[in-house]
Amino acid sequence: MNRTAISASLLAIACYTAPASAHERAVEFPNTADGSIVLAADLHTHSVFSDGQVWPSIRVEEAHRDGLEVLAITEHLEHQPKKADIPHPDRNRSYEVAVESLVAQGYEGLLVVNGAEITRSQPHGHINAIFLEDANALLVEDPRAAVDAANAQGGFVFLNHPNWLPQAPDGIARLSEFHEALIRDGRLHGIEVANGTMDGHSEHALQIALDKNLTVLGTSDIHGLVDWTHNAGHGGHRPMTLVLARDKSEASMKAALFEGRTVAWHNDDLMGKAENVEAVVKACLKIEAGHYPGKASVLPVKIRNACPVNFTLRNTSEETFQNVSDVFRVERGGETELSVRTGEVLKTVDLTFEVLNTQVGFRKSLDLELSAPVPAPPLEAFVR
Ligand SMILES: [Zn+2]
Ligand SMILES: [Zn+2]
Repeated sequence: MNRTAISASLLAIACYTAPASAHERAVEFPNTADGSIVLAADLHTHSVFSDGQVWPSIRVEEAHRDGLEVLAITEHLEHQPKKADIPHPDRNRSYEVAVESLVAQGYEGLLVVNGAEITRSQPHGHINAIFLEDANALLVEDPRAAVDAANAQGGFVFLNHPNWLPQAPDGIARLSEFHEALIRDGRLHGIEVANGTMDGHSEHALQIALDKNLTVLGTSDIHGLVDWTHNAGHGGHRPMTLVLARDKSEASMKAALFEGRTVAWHNDDLMGKAENVEAVVKACLKIEAGHYPGKASVLPVKIRNACPVNFTLRNTSEETFQNVSDVFRVERGGETELSVRTGEVLKTVDLTFEVLNTQVGFRKSLDLELSAPVPAPPLEAFVR
């Protein structure tokens, strides 16, 4: 069967099996105050073309169901345990199969990006390159030459799972001299602070990102099925990167990655540079004040959460609460009522919190201030 015939038969099968339930659990975050849109991206995934368990079309299907806007296919270049069964001298083949599947399904709003994982032992470690034109050019012996080849194609290059126990037995992320040289030369642009395959995150990697001005990334590094591994669709989600982009174009997404405008999302943790985490959190959480009841100076205030993240807040305001303690949750898509002891009748309420499910530095959470006007009392309050 020639290539066109293969594509045609793929199209027929894919259309027949298209699910009705797509997007029922889409990841959606509101735009940030500066008008950036928040794109959901998984930039590290595997299929049977390296050591994954599924055909690339399943990666596309999963990404569509999860409502991702960006999916990178990043097969190991050097680790090819299924090569005897699935010979593929062209290392772009996995990406091509994924794109054929995307076109056949007609999924709009999902960008599939070509990538590769340069897979070496320490001190080089595992390094991903995405936005590749030709992954074959990275298949060279010298790891530095592989990274340079990715950069020559305009690739975005990042260090994977720097706290992976086989390469970092104490679980502490560190850069080797090889990595330091890549950063000095502008060849390494990002670092994973969360990785789903090792089910881990790294506050050390986050601090490295801040110190070296690297882009902060969370990825699934999925090999099996996202639903089985992360309970997706039933309250769980794969670790991913939220990209704060000007629009949904590939150019904007790529620019945002190179500019470091990202937040890693792992379980309920949001990790990243403070300005990016704050932009996302402020898009998620808003407060709204009610009326003072009678002569009391205890103000009802609602905190609304417009995001698919459960927030845990610690009150750091001068004011205390009548109904809850200083540490409380705001469920995803939900709201929490606070009765704030303001002491006097205010026209504006200002509350400050430590957002405990965020990390903006080594063991450091985001400090957040939320304000809202207090509406004038209703007319009947004067009548009484
Ligand atoms: Zn790896
Ligand atoms: Zn990997």
